[in-house]
Amino acid sequence: MLGARFQIVPTHVTPDVIVIGGGVAGFSAATALAEAGAQVLLLEARPGLGGRATAFTDPGTGERVDNGQHILMGCYYDTLKLLARIGASDRVRWQAGLALTMVDERGHESVLKLPPMASPLHLLGGVLAWDALSWFERMSILRVGAALTPRGPGTGVAVVPGGQNFSSASRESVREWLVRHGQAPRLCELFWEPLALAALNQSIDQAAASYFVTILAQMFGPDSTAAALVMPAVPLDELYAEPARAWLEARGHEVRVNAPVKVEVVADRVTGVRVRGEHLAAPWVISTVPWHGLGALFESPPQSLAMTIANATALGSLPIVTVNLWFDRPVMHESLIGLPGRAFQWVFDRRAIIGGASSHLSMISSGAEAIVAMSNDELIALALADVRAALPAARIASVRKGLAVREKRSTFSLAPDAPARPQAETGIAGFLLAGDWIDTGLPATIESAAVSGHRAAALVVQGLPAPSRTSPHHQ
Ligand SMILES: Cc1cc2nc3c(=O)[nH]c(=O)nc-3n(C[C@H](O)[C@H](O)[C@H](O)COP(=O)(O)OP(=O)(O)OC[C@H]3O[C@@H](n4cnc5c(N)ncnc54)[C@H](O)[C@@H]3O)c2cc1C
Repeated sequence: MLGARFQIVPTHVTPDVIVIGGGVAGFSAATALAEAGAQVLLLEARPGLGGRATAFTDPGTGERVDNGQHILMGCYYDTLKLLARIGASDRVRWQAGLALTMVDERGHESVLKLPPMASPLHLLGGVLAWDALSWFERMSILRVGAALTPRGPGTGVAVVPGGQNFSSASRESVREWLVRHGQAPRLCELFWEPLALAALNQSIDQAAASYFVTILAQMFGPDSTAAALVMPAVPLDELYAEPARAWLEARGHEVRVNAPVKVEVVADRVTGVRVRGEHLAAPWVISTVPWHGLGALFESPPQSLAMTIANATALGSLPIVTVNLWFDRPVMHESLIGLPGRAFQWVFDRRAIIGGASSHLSMISSGAEAIVAMSNDELIALALADVRAALPAARIASVRKGLAVREKRSTFSLAPDAPARPQAETGIAGFLLAGDWIDTGLPATIESAAVSGHRAAALVVQGLPAPSRTSPHHQ
């Protein structure tokens, strides 16, 4: 149906759409457009695909190592749609419901397990049965129940008691919201803070409550599978980027790496892009570059984009630090364990997640501003101290190797006073924005990137003139 809007264009001549960036947003847009019958050219500046959700080969072990452990959730509907489209749904493993093992700062281990009840009763039931907390502390969860009611189907926007809807104008921080809802300090320490840090990658004192409430409304909304953890079962680039490239190429579309793009604009209309001196014409160009890369897309930034570029440049960036530790023996039974109150808040067992013989742990420090400047040796020592304090088996195991990975610009700031995030449409005809940082209402996640890519693709499809011929892809 949608394909009928596009004209027949021979491959490698003039694409209907050029997509800049080979990350989640880029492949979501490119594959949705290809599915709709458009001829697509995707251009990625780096030699490898995947953007901020990628993997590299560790020279020491030869293992494919992620740039940082990523977790998807049952409520990542657009991401799951992308995986289904490209035939990669079997590259993730679903955890039935949410079950989290947490080891607190004193070394006490407990399990928060959501019972098989309707949402959000499963959250309330899980916390009420959680023996890491006193009865009084558990009861405080009841005070957030009403806040988790979605305002409308599919909006993902929550209301809080008293009818105060959040908007991007709300200046309340996550901590202030938790305090306003009477959450016990220990429930915050053991549950809310690690959850918020994982979801927002920013301290609960800095991040805006509106984003957190949106996430909670999705996780604990009407869909009781929404809170399930969905773990990539392969290295990250094999999860979506390489399958999407193969899917596109098999359908006659083109994906180029080592292709840094400059966008070309004449009289506020996009004319195409320039890649290493070569002009590539297209009536539509979708940028999925991150916030800090938007200005550099233009030799001379157009006046109509000046405000968007200024806001993007002013948007703060937050780091994530991952330390990979290879032990001489298995040291944990679970796929992941929460370490609330520690520098590295989560530890993942890569053997349990993607298989392989080696005991490889991946330790994540979100919102890692305090440690990102440390040396590799310091980071490895800190991660090792955290895991040994929490897991007795790690104390007697020997470390074969440690590898620190810093992603200094993992996510953008969600502070209440952060500059406005842009819409997909710009003042330049034919030029659209996508990427996790576009105004999706979601924090910097794979799902935000997928939503933004699908949104840009839909705008291209809507913006095309009535069909004159039928697309080859839909015959
Ligand atoms: C360590 C880490 C852990 C994370 N954990 C999670 C998690 O558990 N769950 C979750 O949902 N999210 C997580 N995220 C966030 C998630 O990775 C991002 O939100 C998502 O990958 C962003 O995708 P994107 O396509 O919007 O942008 P990107 O992945 O940044 O893609 C943009 C692409 O554009 C390319 N590009 C830039 N400039 C040009 C140019 N001029 N020409 C051509 N190409 C260009 C870049 O090279 C890049 O490949 C994590 C991020 C990191 C770094």
